[in-house]
Amino acid sequence: MADLSLEHVTKRFDDGDDQIVAVDDVSIEIDDGEFLVLVGPSGCGKSTTLRMIAGLETISDGAITIDGEVVNDRPAQRRDIAMVFQSYALYPHMTVRENMRFGLEESTELDDETMDSRVEETATLLEIDDLLERKPGELSGGQQQRVALGRAIVRDPAVFLMDEPLSNLDAKLRSGMRMELQRLQDDLDVTTIYVTHDQTEAMTMGDRIAILNDGELQQVATPLECYHRPNNLFVAGFIGEPSMNFFDVTLEGDHLVGDGFEYPLSEPVRENLGDTTDLVLGVRPEDVEIYDARDGDHDFPVHVDVVEPMGNENNLLVGFEADENDATFNVTVEGMRRIDPDTTYVAHFPESAVHVFDRRSGTALH
Ligand code: ATP
Repeated sequence: MADLSLEHVTKRFDDGDDQIVAVDDVSIEIDDGEFLVLVGPSGCGKSTTLRMIAGLETISDGAITIDGEVVNDRPAQRRDIAMVFQSYALYPHMTVRENMRFGLEESTELDDETMDSRVEETATLLEIDDLLERKPGELSGGQQQRVALGRAIVRDPAVFLMDEPLSNLDAKLRSGMRMELQRLQDDLDVTTIYVTHDQTEAMTMGDRIAILNDGELQQVATPLECYHRPNNLFVAGFIGEPSMNFFDVTLEGDHLVGDGFEYPLSEPVRENLGDTTDLVLGVRPEDVEIYDARDGDHDFPVHVDVVEPMGNENNLLVGFEADENDATFNVTVEGMRRIDPDTTYVAHFPESAVHVFDRRSGTALH
């Protein structure tokens, strides 16, 4: 068990005459027993961050501490950390039992009997006890993934680091393993940092999520906070599926004026915007309400271009009637609702659900 902190951690790689800043001044505090998901697009610095924590990569600037001790110069094998990779990294010539035991022999000085019983217990926990005498080549992808997890768990480390451990599994297996990993984390209560580029994994698994872009930390918060109160345009667009709709708007008096619509603001929202006039209005597809007819301040006539039935919901592509540029945006409505593409509807953007961002800096103002 351990808490872990990153203080102004930076990683620079030399690339000929240039320097790549893969991780840029990142600070995060991770509590003992917390499940933190590190998420962001390809190349944003997730793996590099994890590798620095593991001791597989040097740190250019800043400090990493485990239980209050700076570990920057501590070798990987002395950090009491177990890492699970996307590739599983199992030894093909060893049985499952030998693979799991090997991790223990490397990192502990337990007697044979204790090691055997630890392997058996962990195999039972992961429901792979009947596979112990098989070799990795004789296992399915999902089973290999469990063995890779077992090899980490059996060591009883202070910290787990997981780098996209589910990305080689098919969608159904992945969602099953997602739940199982959460259950395991609840049982074992080990501080875990889990890297993924998949925002669904981040939303469903993390106690908190840390969102990275271009090596810079964008927000660290609970999944719901990131969803409801994104710090900036990047987080707003990254979290949520389908993505939040964005409209370029200009503040004129107490209205936001965009292509084909004018959105009046109540006094408290107007006050949050200050003097900035170049803004972006954001609204999530699931927050837009579609009516047959209605005429209020936040209601706009729309045409429906595409209806995509998903079963539990319909994804619609709609456009403002008054928009000459024919731009479209996404709306989701419940699956039982019949939507006729040849009819004009009214889209309602509830003020409680809209977000407003500074167009230049991306910062959320409301
Ligand atoms: P992915 O999801 O694609 O694995 P990531 O978020 O894990 O991406 P990193 O692998 O941490 O990203 O890479 C961050 C940046 O650092 C990238 O621009 C990458 O090209 C660069 N980088 C990583 N390792 C090295 C290296 N050894 N030498 C030079 N540049 C590197």
